[in-house]
Amino acid sequence: NKTRFKKTVKVRTTCSYCGVGCQMDLTVQDNKIVQINGAEDAEPNHGSLCVKGRYGYDFVASPERLTTPLIKRNGKFEPSTWDEAITLVAGKFMEIKEKEGSDRMGVLTSARVTNEENYIAQKFTRAVLKTNNIDHCARLCHASTVAGLAASFGSGAMTNTFADIETSDLILVTGSNTTETHPVFSTFIKRAALKGKTLIVVDPRKIKLTEHAGKWLRPELGTDIAWINGLMHVIMEENLHDKAFIQERTEGFQQIVETVKKYTPAYVERITGIPASDIIETARLFAKADKASICYCMGITQHTCGTDNVKSLANLSMLCGHLGKAGTGVNPLRGQNNVQGACDMGGLPNVFSGYRKVDDPDALKKHEIAWGTVGLSGKPGLTVTEMIQKAEEGDLKSLYIIGENPLVSDPDLNHAEKALKALEFLVVQDIFLTETAQFADVVLPSFCFAEKEGTFTNTERRVQRVRKAVEAPGFARQDWQITCEIATKMGTPIHYESSVEIFDEMREVTPSYAGITWARLENEAIHWPCPTRDHPGTPILHTTQFTRGKGLFHAIEYQPPAEVPDAAYPFMLTTGRVIYHYHTGTMTMKSLGLNEMSPECFVEISSNDAAKLNISNGEMVNIFSRRGKIKAKLAVSTKAVDGTLFIPFHFAQAAANRLTNAKIDPVAKIPELKVCAVTIGKTA
Ligand code: SF4
Repeated sequence: NKTRFKKTVKVRTTCSYCGVGCQMDLTVQDNKIVQINGAEDAEPNHGSLCVKGRYGYDFVASPERLTTPLIKRNGKFEPSTWDEAITLVAGKFMEIKEKEGSDRMGVLTSARVTNEENYIAQKFTRAVLKTNNIDHCARLCHASTVAGLAASFGSGAMTNTFADIETSDLILVTGSNTTETHPVFSTFIKRAALKGKTLIVVDPRKIKLTEHAGKWLRPELGTDIAWINGLMHVIMEENLHDKAFIQERTEGFQQIVETVKKYTPAYVERITGIPASDIIETARLFAKADKASICYCMGITQHTCGTDNVKSLANLSMLCGHLGKAGTGVNPLRGQNNVQGACDMGGLPNVFSGYRKVDDPDALKKHEIAWGTVGLSGKPGLTVTEMIQKAEEGDLKSLYIIGENPLVSDPDLNHAEKALKALEFLVVQDIFLTETAQFADVVLPSFCFAEKEGTFTNTERRVQRVRKAVEAPGFARQDWQITCEIATKMGTPIHYESSVEIFDEMREVTPSYAGITWARLENEAIHWPCPTRDHPGTPILHTTQFTRGKGLFHAIEYQPPAEVPDAAYPFMLTTGRVIYHYHTGTMTMKSLGLNEMSPECFVEISSNDAAKLNISNGEMVNIFSRRGKIKAKLAVSTKAVDGTLFIPFHFAQAAANRLTNAKIDPVAKIPELKVCAVTIGKTA
């Protein structure tokens, strides 16, 4: 047997799915990944992998991978050479820039590509297109975290680490279906619960983690501010707050004293449905714990009050002094493999890499010098939600989308579709012909994670290496290389020999990454901030002072969701994920095993509601909202609560986002993907 003698190599890299950033060894034979093992000797996973990490890599060698550039002619894609495609893209970008102006162009960078590629995407947007219209999917998941935690603490990232959570005495998990979305991290939480640590889950669904929890609090969708204010009310009433911490480390405390007065347990019960006794008991447990940690995810952030939800959690934590030491903290669980890195690298409309504001004259000057350019715009750009809106109105003319699939992930898809159709010129750079790529004028084939050298930053702010294991198919090219070629063709030469060279330039202009060298990353992973080469990195933030100096309390009033049930749309709908699929399914849906486990969309309903509607488990049903209709299979589930439906958003054929509400949080501009009103009925 010839294959037995083929050379086998093992390559250590980082998982390309979720923000846990598990370390894995790819076994490669004859340019094919034949086996994947969790890296036993490495944090954060110490050998563990979830089902996606272990079995979800058929997509790398999929015959559906894009192999040549495609140009749309008379409505049909035709393969082209790179020279032809780059000439067309650069020519059209220059024409639109000249005719319409830079601010009528936009770029969506990606949480899937490396830090180096995100850095180049923002450099291209700012230094070549001369606009700050760059954003990415963080807008749809944790924009409210970045805004809320930055306002409270001065830094919008996870304060502690995964390993550290196990040292907590109490873990409060809210708005995070951790076993499905961050599976390996959920094992840390479950282990802590097994060791006798108190686990409290606050979630509108009876998610799997509730089986491990000492307490499950079930709030109505979109009522988080009320229950958090309720906990703070009890803590202050019973004099359980940490006066020394409040005095020494924070400011604005008096602002919340008045606000939370009216959030009595009885009042909170009326808004949230959580029994008053549970509010009182949880408040006591949280305040009295020696070390309490809060973990949250999109159940908190994807609301019109997302930023306020995040600030409320920051208030609660500061009130009890649960910050700045091991086993404490406010920990947003970032979704995609490199969503933290894409934000850190300046893939946002208001900041350069390292969160230096584009309207800060010093930062602007520094970048003009470093990039050898002049005329960078000091005007913050458009967010992705604003770009889609402007495109629909005809005010945005071109979009360059790198590794994103807004036609499945954005809210109110009919509206997103209209927007992309209205563009004068759409370029999509991806590994597959996604739903979004099909709308493009030009499609550029790129490398996947297993074909490139680079770095990802996981949700704990840990910078880790990504290593090349196999050759890319056909004529695909690495994302940063494609972007540099477009820039060069536009008359602004940008040239690098390697990812290392880009990383070194990035470090020069990014103080929090300054001490993280490529050589260090060969042997270790490092948590930013790491200001100097001899700095060990910072696993725990805000130990002696907050990034902004003192932590800032914000007085926040409860506000209901933008859309609530009524006679026409009597059910609440919330959307989320299943463990077998990742985001819009571009990669996981190419994996046979994962598709077998989760082949199609479903709508989860309680047995009471199913009985009332006289619909049985497995029947096909229509679900309608004010914005659209989809058809899905009914799944009667013990996780569901009466009056609330759940649909995973991964499936393009029955896209939950045809139903969701595009109303946005006024600060973070994140849409309210977690709550809308729907109705449900049998299919004809
Ligand atoms: Fe990959 Fe996340 Fe699963 Fe780890 S938990 S293997 S990073 S998908």
